[in-house]
Amino acid sequence: MSLQEKIYSRLPVFLQNIACSMKGREIASRRYSREFFDLFEKIRDRDRLPADEMSELRFRRLRDNLITAYETSEYYRDLFDRHAFDPYRMEDPDELLRLPLHRKADIKNNLHSMVNRTVEKGSTIKATTSGTTGSGLVFPMSHACERETWAVWWRYRHNHGISFDTWCAIFGARSIVPLDQQTPPFYRTISPMRQVLFSMHHLNRRNIASYVEAFNKMQIPWIHGHPSTIANMASLMHENDLRLNYPVKYITIGSENLLEHQIEIIENVFGITPIQHYGLTEPVANISMCEHGKLHIDEDYSFVELVPTEEDDNRYHLIGTSFSNDALFFLRYDTNDIVTLEEDQSCPCGRSGRIIKSIEGRKDDYIVMRDGTRIGRLSTIFRRLTHVKEAQIRQEADGHVIFFVVKSAKYTDEDETVLKEEIESRLDVDYSIKYVDTIPKTKGGKLKFVISNYEGNRK
Ligand SMILES: [Zn+2]
Repeated sequence: MSLQEKIYSRLPVFLQNIACSMKGREIASRRYSREFFDLFEKIRDRDRLPADEMSELRFRRLRDNLITAYETSEYYRDLFDRHAFDPYRMEDPDELLRLPLHRKADIKNNLHSMVNRTVEKGSTIKATTSGTTGSGLVFPMSHACERETWAVWWRYRHNHGISFDTWCAIFGARSIVPLDQQTPPFYRTISPMRQVLFSMHHLNRRNIASYVEAFNKMQIPWIHGHPSTIANMASLMHENDLRLNYPVKYITIGSENLLEHQIEIIENVFGITPIQHYGLTEPVANISMCEHGKLHIDEDYSFVELVPTEEDDNRYHLIGTSFSNDALFFLRYDTNDIVTLEEDQSCPCGRSGRIIKSIEGRKDDYIVMRDGTRIGRLSTIFRRLTHVKEAQIRQEADGHVIFFVVKSAKYTDEDETVLKEEIESRLDVDYSIKYVDTIPKTKGGKLKFVISNYEGNRK
């Protein structure tokens, strides 16, 4: 805990609210500047650019960024020269394939020579990728890049009817409510950003009624957070027969993959379908759900490549090249996520962005069966299990698979039978089911759905 955090945690609630609002004002004035709103208009205008104009824009931005990288970064100059790649003469995006893919470790190891040496330190912010312990990355992000990222996110929100003055309940990973606080309120208000930050750490059986009461009092129309947290709130409400006394209009989720049993419980309790979005701190890919429920790649935001996986021809590695971060260029960056493409690439919304069927998440979200077959898409196992609050699948070094399950109060023996059926119909593995009170989250507050310690998976 920093000194600032220590002082904050000792303040009375009303002063914490003031402190949050002061910090909020600072962030809001940086994030939502005049330049932001000018850019936002531009970005909204290009949302439905016809396919040919979009691919022209995409190519132009790609080439401009490659040229900037070549002219300002020692690493990229050297790399392009070695591969005889000439960005000035580039005529086709396919020429990019001559250059190697980059992983997070490549960026970390070469950061010093990769950054744009002409960008002044004061004109960037420090961006931090969450990642599990040790795998995080800190890199310089230009203000322009931060603006563009937020503008693209807001474009997607606006498309669903959310506006800049819609109040939002956010479940964040930050300890905005001190952990040792035992009594409500379990939220703090950031008025300048129209946000009510709810603590995900206090969300449990004992406190759920006070959460519902706070929502009912404030009638917050929009909920945003990790799907595991929102699903947790939904299932706590369900098992305690609690209901909101007003309709929530929007639920947006981020950071984790949305699993089928989570959609089910969220729809069941809140009566609406969560709106999905894929984005990451590295500005290399953004995928937004449209009004028709289709997931479109935001082609104007970055240069996204879908590189087929070895196993299956409709599963792709999501690879992206950045368009907006002058401070550090990301070239053919492997997000480590796998997506599948929708067969029918047309959508009534008319957007030209490629349509993704599902975001399957990390490529190590597999377990390995007795015969060596790797199986992904494991969330389908829990599809029928609406009384499961949280779940995690862990394959141990010897191949044994443990299904960790947090039951809701309505979970019965019948659910266990269904779970066993679902597991055995899909997986030929040696397994056990372990019931636990809670599943540890990552530092960023994420619930990792699959953990593999299996030696056979280290390819
Ligand atoms: Zn669409």
